Amino acid sequence: MISVEEALAEILSHVRPLSLESIPILESLGLVLGEEIVSDVDIPPFNNSGMDGFALRSDDVAQATGNVPTRLEVVDTVAAGYVSASRVESGHAIRIMTGAPIPEGADAVVPIEDTGDAHRAKEERLAAPVSEIEVYVPVKAGDNVRFAGEDVRRGEAVLEPGRVIRPQEVGVLASVGRTTVRVHRRPRVAVLATGDELVDPQELLAPGKIRNSNEYTNAALVYRTGGVPLRLGVARDAAGALSAKIREGLEMGADLFLTSGGVSVGDYDVVKDVLGHEGKMQFWQVNMKPGKPLAFGLLPGGVPLIGLPGNPVSAMVSFEQFARPAILKMLGFQDLDKPTVRARLDEDLTNSGRRGFVRVVVAKREGRYHARVTGEQGSGVLTSMARANGLAVIREGLRFVEAGSEVDVQMLDWPEGMAALL
Ligand code: AMP
Ligand code: MG
Repeated sequence: MISVEEALAEILSHVRPLSLESIPILESLGLVLGEEIVSDVDIPPFNNSGMDGFALRSDDVAQATGNVPTRLEVVDTVAAGYVSASRVESGHAIRIMTGAPIPEGADAVVPIEDTGDAHRAKEERLAAPVSEIEVYVPVKAGDNVRFAGEDVRRGEAVLEPGRVIRPQEVGVLASVGRTTVRVHRRPRVAVLATGDELVDPQELLAPGKIRNSNEYTNAALVYRTGGVPLRLGVARDAAGALSAKIREGLEMGADLFLTSGGVSVGDYDVVKDVLGHEGKMQFWQVNMKPGKPLAFGLLPGGVPLIGLPGNPVSAMVSFEQFARPAILKMLGFQDLDKPTVRARLDEDLTNSGRRGFVRVVVAKREGRYHARVTGEQGSGVLTSMARANGLAVIREGLRFVEAGSEVDVQMLDWPEGMAALL
């Protein structure tokens, strides 16, 4: 049996980041940047006010106090989006709003709260703007001014290739004038279930049949990981049926195949035979539980195929260990690890001696993560996966872990807000 790490390393050695394409910036969310982004402007583009208040000359108010205010003549009002035509001479001030350009002659802004206008309502200020203002505090040159280029200088690189695009990166792209951006394209992932027993959710559940859940789980996992699922439906447990589906997927331009089922040692487990025939095939027993059987191979054109086990929990756990990193690598991600937290076990836990991935629910109590097993751990019990938000990772050889011990938990979802389940 090979280890989880060996299987993953072999799979990743056959996977490369996909080509770059140019797409609208909002659609790049969650994808990986493939170019350097340089700003076409200073940001902010001009000196502007950081406060609602009065633009003035700091020398004028050097002696201002609450008891002996400095009186200034208000010569204009400037709102964000406009430029004052007036100049601030000594003894003058211009009423200014946040984001408005600092008028010529002024070198600082005093906030409205530090002036005689502090207690006048907005309506009152608008209806009867004062022609004179009392300033109660001194300000230094530059106070409450946001200077041109203080965030970004024109010509400066703001984002580098390899950066994962989050909402803040989308905003940075907009602020430097980009409408499109080059990113690694999303992999097209063929999702294929195998099994004569499988029926679709809307079909009659005849004797001996079960509902095909893996196709849906796998397609959902592909979406969540950033890929585009190509749903190929179900291949019957016959070599011809499976070969036909694989050819269909190749014609649709699949970058990766995910099959489920047919990889154990049963008489009708045809995935490994077909793979061997259609391409180059490796079949492994991976030292893990659940998810021991795993097929991996290369189809014509070097398209990788990951043959996940049929049991719904095994399929999901194997997806997380092998398919997710492969998809992320195609997307251009460098960090392929599943986010992991250390959590304290609330109960004893037994393990098979293989690498264990135990379904747990993690929640934070008194500043510390706690993990509790979600009941029956059979590899067909998908509802225990639905109750879980993490997989406790138990190392090989360890058959018992005592309550109170700390374990690594791969998070399927972030634990905050799950306290009700614990
Ligand atoms: P196999 O590896 O094909 O023998 O499948 C192992 C177990 O998983 C069997 O009990 C199958 O019925 C079940 N199974 C296989 N494929 C699916 C699927 N797409 N949805 C739900 N269960 C499945
Ligand atoms: Mg089967």
